[in-house]
Order: sequence, then C-alpha cells, then structure tokens
Amino acid sequence: MPPSTLLFASQNRKKAEEIRAILGDAFQIRTLAEMGYEQDLDEPFDTVEANAKHKARQGFELFKLPCFAEDTGLVVEALNGLPGVQSARYAGKNKDPEANMEKVLSEMKGITNRRAYFIAFIAYYDGLEFFLFVGRIHGLILHEKHGNGGFGYDPIFQPDGFERSFAEMDSSIKNRISHRAGALHGFTSWLKGKG
Ligand code: IMP
Repeated sequence: MPPSTLLFASQNRKKAEEIRAILGDAFQIRTLAEMGYEQDLDEPFDTVEANAKHKARQGFELFKLPCFAEDTGLVVEALNGLPGVQSARYAGKNKDPEANMEKVLSEMKGITNRRAYFIAFIAYYDGLEFFLFVGRIHGLILHEKHGNGGFGYDPIFQPDGFERSFAEMDSSIKNRISHRAGALHGFTSWLKGKG
C-alpha cells in the first residue's frame, strides 16, 4: 500500500504549494515547518541528486515518516552547466533569487546561445531504500526578467513551445509542464503502484 502521509523535506513554501497543486488529493503532504521544524536542511554534495537523497534521509531521521525531497538545478549551456548544483546560492550564501538572476543575466550578456534546462530530482526514502525520480524542461534564458509569478529563476526562463516566461504563465500551465511536474509524475505513478 502507498503510505497515506508523506513528509516533504523542504523549507521552500513555493515548492510545497506547487507540489500540493500538482498532487491534488492523491496524497497527504506534511512539510517540515508544519511538523514544527524551521531549520534549513544541509545540501553538502556537488550533485542535485545527492542533495535530494541527503534531504530525504534527514527528513526521515527527524520524524520517522516516509519522506521525499526535491532538488532542482538550472543548467545553462553557455555557462558550461552553471549555475547547476549551485543554483540556490549562485550569487551568495543568502539564496537571493534577484541576485541569482542578475548574475546569470550579466554573465549571459552578449551571448547568443540562450539554451538552458531545469532538472529536478525527487528522492524518496522510507528508512530502508532510496528511490529517485527525474524531470526536465528545456528552454531559453531571456535577456531580462519577465513576469511576477512563480519563484526562483522563473522570470528569466522561457520553456520551449511558449512565448512567455515561467513567471508570466498561469501557475496551472507551469505545474503541467515543469521539471517538478515531470519528476512528481514518475514518483506518484510509482507510489500508486506500490504494494
Ligand atoms: P533548490 O532545489 O531549492 O535547492 O533550488 C535551487 C535553485 O533553483 C533555487 O534558487 C530555486 O529558487 C531555483 N528553483 C527551483 N525550482 C525552480 C523553479 O521551478 N523555477 C525557477 N527556479 C527554481
């Protein structure tokens, strides 16, 4: 049987909102903050998948609940894959999304190859085994910020097939096509087939 309650090991409220919108009523999610835990989890590794696994393990150890975590990287071709695993702290330790976007935009000044993708890894840990799910969306880095929706790098990322940035789209569209939606789809299909 799939577990009825899952811990989501993240302090990112925007991510939790997106995940709840994508999952609907299929699963009950509890965030760390809802469990009374306010600290950030460690992300000490140099790949997004290793950090996702590490956060899932930390969440499980804290509350002994089946736990999943998600880690995303923005991979920009012309920046040799950066910000990648450094996406959250690209412009410094305080994880400032505005400063991160400014840094990418300034490094991309004059560069014509704007190809980039978001990659999301979801790691699930039930105290015994890890399972990993991945989602990816390709697109372009815009020349300036567009829109106020979403979070993180959304104002400077335009997914392929659209004329709008993630931050200009209705959240229901982002939640249908995004890297996170892709990884969640794999995760929930697997969970539903469990047992
Ligand atoms: P993390 O997965 O929370 O470590 O996020 C890494 C970085 O990518 C942070 O700067 C996030 O704000 C950003 N990020 C994560 N998901 C998205 C997204 O869906 N859109 C735009 N930026 C994102």
